[in-house]
Amino acid sequence: MSDTIKDVTRLFGSNVFSEAVMRERLPKNVFKVFKQVLAGETELDRSVADVIANAMKDWAIEKGATHFCHWFQPMTGSTAEKHDAFISPTSDGRTIMEFSGKELTQGEPDASSFPSGGLRATFEARGYTAWDCTSAVFVKEDGKNITLYIPSAFCSYTGEALDKKTPLLRSMDALNKQVIRVLRACGNTTSKTASATLGAEQEYFLIDKKFYEKRLDLMLTGRTLFGAASPRGQELDDHYFGTLQERVASFMHELNTELWRLGVSAKTQHNEVAPAQYELAPVFATVNIGTDANQLVMETMQKVALRHGLVCLLHEKPFAGVNGSGKHNNWSITTDDGINLLDPGMTPHDNMIFLIMLCSVIKAVDKYAKLLRASVANVGNEHRLGANEAPPAIVSIFLGDQLTDILEQLVSGAAKSSKQGGQLKLGVSTLPPLPKDSTDRNRTSPFAFTGNKFEFRMVGSTQSTSGPMFVLNTIVAEILCEVADELEKASDVKKAAEKILTKIAKEHKRILFNGDNYTDEWVKEAEKRGLPNIRSTVESLETIMDAENVALFKKHKILSKQELHARTDILLEVYSTVIGIEAKTALSMIKRQIMPVVANYSGRLAQAVQAISSTIVSAEAQTAMLEEVCELIGALSKKAVDIEAALAKADGMDDTKKLARCCRDDLVPAVAAAREVVDKLETVVDADLWPLPTYAEMLFIK
Ligand code: ADP
Ligand code: MG
Repeated sequence: MSDTIKDVTRLFGSNVFSEAVMRERLPKNVFKVFKQVLAGETELDRSVADVIANAMKDWAIEKGATHFCHWFQPMTGSTAEKHDAFISPTSDGRTIMEFSGKELTQGEPDASSFPSGGLRATFEARGYTAWDCTSAVFVKEDGKNITLYIPSAFCSYTGEALDKKTPLLRSMDALNKQVIRVLRACGNTTSKTASATLGAEQEYFLIDKKFYEKRLDLMLTGRTLFGAASPRGQELDDHYFGTLQERVASFMHELNTELWRLGVSAKTQHNEVAPAQYELAPVFATVNIGTDANQLVMETMQKVALRHGLVCLLHEKPFAGVNGSGKHNNWSITTDDGINLLDPGMTPHDNMIFLIMLCSVIKAVDKYAKLLRASVANVGNEHRLGANEAPPAIVSIFLGDQLTDILEQLVSGAAKSSKQGGQLKLGVSTLPPLPKDSTDRNRTSPFAFTGNKFEFRMVGSTQSTSGPMFVLNTIVAEILCEVADELEKASDVKKAAEKILTKIAKEHKRILFNGDNYTDEWVKEAEKRGLPNIRSTVESLETIMDAENVALFKKHKILSKQELHARTDILLEVYSTVIGIEAKTALSMIKRQIMPVVANYSGRLAQAVQAISSTIVSAEAQTAMLEEVCELIGALSKKAVDIEAALAKADGMDDTKKLARCCRDDLVPAVAAAREVVDKLETVVDADLWPLPTYAEMLFIK
């Protein structure tokens, strides 16, 4: 697999039916029409689609493809695909290879087995997939199977969104509309469209496959349900940016190669903070393409890891006590003529459009903080948000010195100046003076301004970026809509803008925080400022249906009330299902792996006590060991009974909300209490007997 790459520029995108390939392979007039479709200027008609499909098929077959599939993102959070061969049997017993425009643009998967949150009864099986022509078609190789992938949206027979892509695409339209209104009002006549951009940094763990296979918890839940802390964790700070270990480096090389072929611009790679933790960041792209790319990144990581005898863990918290994994969503807005609207320039204080965009984001994040929080609420992230290493569950914005200063100026009127960075001299004649940024970085903020974009850091590592991104696009569109309403009717736009900026700065400065978000002082301070601090996933998901959110999504045509309700139900159901699986897995491990081993060990100790007691030597130490182990065994068997009782209680519940609360209030604490005992046992039981690979082994054996 891993042959040396001679020319990355030729390899890159070689499996993508890109614009360049289209230009080469499509008749000129068809290519022109397709470009108009991309720009939203016209619709794709069947005859054009037929020509494109045919060219695609020929290209894919040259690449060895035998099948095509609509590749979509149901509410499970991962991707789905159903492959069809290009074959079309002929009457003389042979076959030709065919692919029509209809097959390209529309699929009809049975929708009954995907979560719909009650939008569709099981007997109403029909669903549709529709080609998202803005995200390029590609060929993917899995083992010997080669298939043409068509990125698609997925909806029900009656047109409701059943996937993650549709609301994202709708939110892009909404944002585009409002940004252009604001730009026009401010005198920009040249930009035609504006798109949100996304660069998603993906964190992950790699552990040796042989350990993974011995851990039922990792196999079934993606995280360790038990495991005493390793005597050494991440205290030495030696893993972050450390030298890449050889097997890991080879993995990364192969991962990059695969991703580059698929046109995913994997750019940055490094060791992360926790031992065995790593990160990959691509070059940013339009947000729907960035979201598709991130799905490919997650999938390819898992696939390539196995080839190296490794398993890639994407869970938000595979190991207690060391850092969990996030997915920092770097987000900005860029126009078709290349203006990054969040680029402050050298003198941000007199960059009106930038200040409007900045303040609109600030207001949106403050006003819809709970919704933003809910967009990252999932079971895994609960272990991360609010724990001492990840952004807390309190949403706040880091702006840095320069912009904070400008916001302060705005509070009392127009901004008049911008602090500058200057130069940094290192005191060594051979080292060059470095231009210094106007602002330091902040690693603890959940929503940080980082130079010319915002970085939303609360997103969990397993999550599709679609949810948080369509929420962010929509809330910003909403505030920009308010701003545009004001500016469009103003006789003096500059004055009107200044007034708006001052109002936002005054009313929403409470969301700004440049300090250490991990401290208890911040929790207290945030409470004083009235900022919500919603720690539990269930509580957070329950805020989604608040009236203002329903109205917001309806106004911008992102989701109907029914669609939003369905989504909320699905998220709550997933929460309960995962907690149920965790509890059952924990119980199985306790009863079938841990109890038998510790019972055996206590028997051995008892024999030792007996044998030694018959000599003249004291068995005091052995007796103490026996007592401790027996006490823990007794405690554990009680905890197992508690888990069983909580499972039985949950089993009898059908109401989605009640079940989720029961999982949170009964099951989660029951499993956590059992873990405490198991982890103590691990530290006192013979290492040769212990049935599970330890944290030290999993995190440090490379
Ligand atoms: P960090 O220092 O935060 O870890 P990285 O280099 O790992 O930074 O990742 C930064 C990410 O931000 C990259 O994916 C990069 O492409 C992305 N990015 C840069 N500019 C923009 C932008 N204008 N819009 C969205 N993402 C961007
Ligand atoms: Mg990074």
